[in-house]
Amino acid sequence: MDTSAFRQKFRSEKIPRNYSGLFHLILNFSFLVFSTLLALSQVFELKVWEIMAIPVTLVLGNLVVFTLHRYPLHRPMPFFGFSYKIHTKWHHRFFTDEKLVFDLTRDFFIVFFPTWIVLGFVFLVLPGIYLLLSPIFSANYVFLTMAMGSFYFLSYEVVHFASHLPEDHFLIKIRFFKFMRDYHKIHHNPKLMRDCNFNIVFPFFDIIFNTYLSPRKQNASSNISS
Ligand SMILES: [Zn+2]
Ligand SMILES: [Zn+2]
Repeated sequence: MDTSAFRQKFRSEKIPRNYSGLFHLILNFSFLVFSTLLALSQVFELKVWEIMAIPVTLVLGNLVVFTLHRYPLHRPMPFFGFSYKIHTKWHHRFFTDEKLVFDLTRDFFIVFFPTWIVLGFVFLVLPGIYLLLSPIFSANYVFLTMAMGSFYFLSYEVVHFASHLPEDHFLIKIRFFKFMRDYHKIHHNPKLMRDCNFNIVFPFFDIIFNTYLSPRKQNASSNISS
């Protein structure tokens, strides 16, 4: 079945009739913006060392995304059947490197995280981080970690969404988004999706673990072959 036929079938069988892509977008973004701001509002009289929570959380967030994306999202594993299905069987069949752009706002259903995952993050993971870190670190460090964790999730949703926008969209004129889109496009090649470019926000752990395939090299080799 080609991508267009899969999209038609998916829309009629999997996307609920009353689904609104814009509502999905607003809901996910609102929860993540709100939890970022709420955690930030608890930070008072920040000490210099507490700022370390920002780079540490960005790096750990990058590692978490890399690991989840490389393993449970792309390999069938016990307890993670749902994530493999949603990501590999649905997202990667709906979007390939040759057909990377969504057609309708209804397609946001398979672009953004299901809202129940965002709710689980806000109401379970963030309190879990609080309980885990509070006995060890200062309140400012803990709340800054929670704020940056939410912000990282939000950044994932933004950059991943931008990666599925048309190439002539005004956001893709910005070099960073253009680069991340080209990098994610390689990951959507069905032959490469299990091997490379698992990061979404910035390609740090792909470089560390040698799974980084540069869009520049890919463009160069496709120019030579064409
Ligand atoms: Zn994607
Ligand atoms: Zn993937």
